[in-house]
Amino acid sequence: MLALGLLFVVFIGSANALPLPHCDNVTIVTREEWGAQPSKSVSYMGTPVSIVFIHHTAMSECHTKDKCAEEMRVIQRFHQVDRGWDDIGYNFLIGEDGRAYEGRAWDRIGAHTLGWNNVAIAFSIMGDYSHKLPNDAALDAVHAMIDCGIKLGKITPDYKLYGHRDAGNTECPGQQLYDLIRTWKHYGRLGNEPLVKPTPIPYQPTTYTSGTY
Ligand SMILES: [Zn+2]
Repeated sequence: MLALGLLFVVFIGSANALPLPHCDNVTIVTREEWGAQPSKSVSYMGTPVSIVFIHHTAMSECHTKDKCAEEMRVIQRFHQVDRGWDDIGYNFLIGEDGRAYEGRAWDRIGAHTLGWNNVAIAFSIMGDYSHKLPNDAALDAVHAMIDCGIKLGKITPDYKLYGHRDAGNTECPGQQLYDLIRTWKHYGRLGNEPLVKPTPIPYQPTTYTSGTY
């Protein structure tokens, strides 16, 4: 019994220090690489989630790893200091450099879509997509990240995809990007019907739980 208890402690204790799982067809820039501040507090959600939200940051776009890393630090400061959140709000952010940037990653409850944070994973493209579309590199990265989430067991294969505005009073993810995601196969609200919130799943640490926060 003692041995079992110790094993449990070791497993939980090491869960936060595992490297972020690799994803095919997209490079993920870790928090360490972009110079993240530590999270003030961490809470986990159960996966796979069946909901994916698409956002834009409505701030600057970026086209190189250096610029996107700098933008990540700006957004994290805005969320942690000005908004008073625990950490950068989204699970992952996407740059027009075609990379994904680790926010709260796969298992952590974010601060992105009020009322839905414990049942959904959010990808936010860095930029303002009210009057133009993200470039192909960014859009390809979003698709690769969703595919990766399915492969890792973080997103259900039959997930529903929404824009932030489908669940809240906001322009996000920008009119142009919103019009585009409504053409995607998994878009879940063509008839403008109200969203149905799934029951949150209890959190279970797995070997794919990752990150240092
Ligand atoms: Zn949003």
